Amino acid sequence: MSIRIKVILPYLLLTLVVAAAGAYLLTRIVSDQLSERLTNQLLESGRVVMDEFVRKEVAQVEAARLIAFTQGLPEALANGEQRDVENLATPAAGGLGVESLIIVDFQRREMLNLLLQGGVYRSFPRGEFWGQVAMVQELLGSNEAQPLPRRDLIQNAADGDQYYYYTAYPVILDQKVVGVVLAGTSTKTMLPSLRNVSLSDVVLYNRDCRAIGTSSSPLQADPVFLRNQQLSPDLCAQVRESQGIVDGENIFIENRGYRLAYKRLLIAEDNFGVFAVFLPMDFVIQPASLNRDTSVLLMAISMLAVVGIGYGVSRVIINPLFALVRTSEAIAAGDLTKRTGIKSRDEIGTLANSFDVMTDNLQQRTLELERANAALAKIDKTKSDFIQIAAHELRTPLTLLSGYSQILTAKAGANADLEPLAKGMNEGSARMLEVVNSMLDISRIDSNTLKILPEDTRLETVMNKVQRTFKHAWGERKLTLVTNGLAEMPPVYVDPDLMYKMLYHLVMNAIKYTPDGGKITVSAHIMENPREVEILVCDTGIGINQADHQLIFEKFYQTGEVQVHSSGRTKFKGGGPGLGLAIVRGVVEAHGGRVWVESLGHDEVNCPGSCFIVRIPLKQGKPA
Ligand code: ADP
Repeated sequence: MSIRIKVILPYLLLTLVVAAAGAYLLTRIVSDQLSERLTNQLLESGRVVMDEFVRKEVAQVEAARLIAFTQGLPEALANGEQRDVENLATPAAGGLGVESLIIVDFQRREMLNLLLQGGVYRSFPRGEFWGQVAMVQELLGSNEAQPLPRRDLIQNAADGDQYYYYTAYPVILDQKVVGVVLAGTSTKTMLPSLRNVSLSDVVLYNRDCRAIGTSSSPLQADPVFLRNQQLSPDLCAQVRESQGIVDGENIFIENRGYRLAYKRLLIAEDNFGVFAVFLPMDFVIQPASLNRDTSVLLMAISMLAVVGIGYGVSRVIINPLFALVRTSEAIAAGDLTKRTGIKSRDEIGTLANSFDVMTDNLQQRTLELERANAALAKIDKTKSDFIQIAAHELRTPLTLLSGYSQILTAKAGANADLEPLAKGMNEGSARMLEVVNSMLDISRIDSNTLKILPEDTRLETVMNKVQRTFKHAWGERKLTLVTNGLAEMPPVYVDPDLMYKMLYHLVMNAIKYTPDGGKITVSAHIMENPREVEILVCDTGIGINQADHQLIFEKFYQTGEVQVHSSGRTKFKGGGPGLGLAIVRGVVEAHGGRVWVESLGHDEVNCPGSCFIVRIPLKQGKPA
């Protein structure tokens, strides 16, 4: 996973978690606020409705009191003079704007029943009803000198059984109640004004908690609601006893939700009913939704800001890292001129700086190495040139020497004194010629001019030739030569002369580095996948240290001290020019193959032995 994703992903998740938590808290706060607002509004509405009733009460008491104190009215009532009562009270009522005015005498007879309709008072035939009303009876039956006014919600038959809010005021003559004045206002008039002042819809209930009117037009239009809407006895009792507002249920009217709160109608001692205020839920949600929208917008903006800042921060952190990665990749691919270019003063800056310093050093060292390498190559070239020139220069006289020494040997055959001398000269010149030829081989290998002339070659034949070359060694050194698989091996397509040289040097080395009585095994077989011929030359000799396994294939490289070598090409640890294995490698590589040695190490006492392994690919289509 990219580091960018590793940084950004948890950050985004964190942002989302924080946003979700924020949104949850916000919603909680907003909804708590909404509900609090709704409750507060209901409380306020309840208080205002109650105030309005009190104001109405004050006005009605004032009106009733003025009528009760109208000069001559108490006397008229005491005397049962109905006409007088009517003549005195009617003009007074007009001035006071009372909607309904009823006067009852002490014998519970209705003396007056006026109703304001269309701006004029209409008088209604006097019945029995008002004398039987509870608060009238209570006032008439009171023993007090000045009983206090009473109030109630009562249906008025003269106005189609519309409920009225009445205030009853006693008329006193000689410290006796001689009648009662009732001043009333229709709930139909009151409800709209209650709604206006309280800003909420109102339902009025009578003493029994039965709904008698509402300011809500949908409910007003629904007589079923008013008829059936009765508070449960428990709720009714609770509201009537409670001083404060009682939280009600939520109701739905025409798919609109409303929240209700109840309060008793209590003035002085009279607990004459109950009212409910109810507010549509969207009353507060509407203005609050603006806040909610703003909050959501703010939230979205802040989330975008958080994500944006996070992205910026992660870029500031990650970009230098990416620059570092790109530079390191370029350097790994070999472009040592590349630098990070990061200049920041933080940890990444320090890291990048160290990285650049390291690259500087690496570039410097590489340059030095390249220079040294070039110098070495030049020296090597000089050496190769020298070998080539020396070999060429030595070869002609050596050939002469060898030829003459052979003639001398032939001629000295009968002379016992001269014969060993001539033989020694012959052997020495042959050995020197061999070394010079090796030098020529090496210079060909170095200059890539070694020519291979492949043909179908039986390795057994080549090996037999090698065996014959060293025919003296086997007996002298008591060495056993074992060959494996060569006889069965089909002809392989290789250069037979070069194969001879290769086996010649490998077998000669095996002879040289194996103590007397040891064993040399030469084996060969065909390998499949890839199709190759594998030739192994193994001995039971002194072995080679791991550290020398590569180096011995370099020309002139010899392990150990040169002095300890004895002379002679097949003597134990006999000296040599150090060219044998370099020629072997040159020959093998010219055939497209490879050669390596396996040995457990150098030990002249235990003789772990060495195995030289050659693998040469077989040309496709050529016989194996
Ligand atoms: P030379 O034999 O002329 O010294 P070579 O290139 O043939 O040069 O061999 C290089 C060195 O590798 C030898 O000097 C010898 O130390 C080591 N070496 C080669 N063949 C063997 C072997 N069969 N066993 C142990 N050491 C060997």
